[in-house]
Amino acid sequence: MSYPVRYYCPHCGAVVELERDGYLSDKSVTPYPLVGWEYADPAESFENDDADGVHFVCGESDAEGLRWTGEVSEADDVEHPGLESPCGNDVYLSFVRFEDGREVDPVPESEYVDIGSGPRSGPRGPNGP
Ligand SMILES: [Zn+2]
Repeated sequence: MSYPVRYYCPHCGAVVELERDGYLSDKSVTPYPLVGWEYADPAESFENDDADGVHFVCGESDAEGLRWTGEVSEADDVEHPGLESPCGNDVYLSFVRFEDGREVDPVPESEYVDIGSGPRSGPRGPNGP
């Protein structure tokens, strides 16, 4: 038994409806992938797969059970209200993941890169001669 669940694009607020089986919990919808999550295309059978989430392209992804409603959310966390909608940007729907029975917290990409990597080589800014 599946039912439609509504999400909105974090960039422009375009509302998308997705048929879900209901046994996977959603964690978040973000404009970037979470570190450690694996994303499937909505056309794949993500519910039965090992995917940890679904990757959409706003307004362009097309699959059975997926429907762009033409509505635009006015939620406060839409990044660019007034942006042309749908905007064609990447949207990542992440499911809750568990490891060893504990919920995994996503690590923001920027922090993840800096942890334990030591001094990074490469230019850090205009400090040349
Ligand atoms: Zn969008």
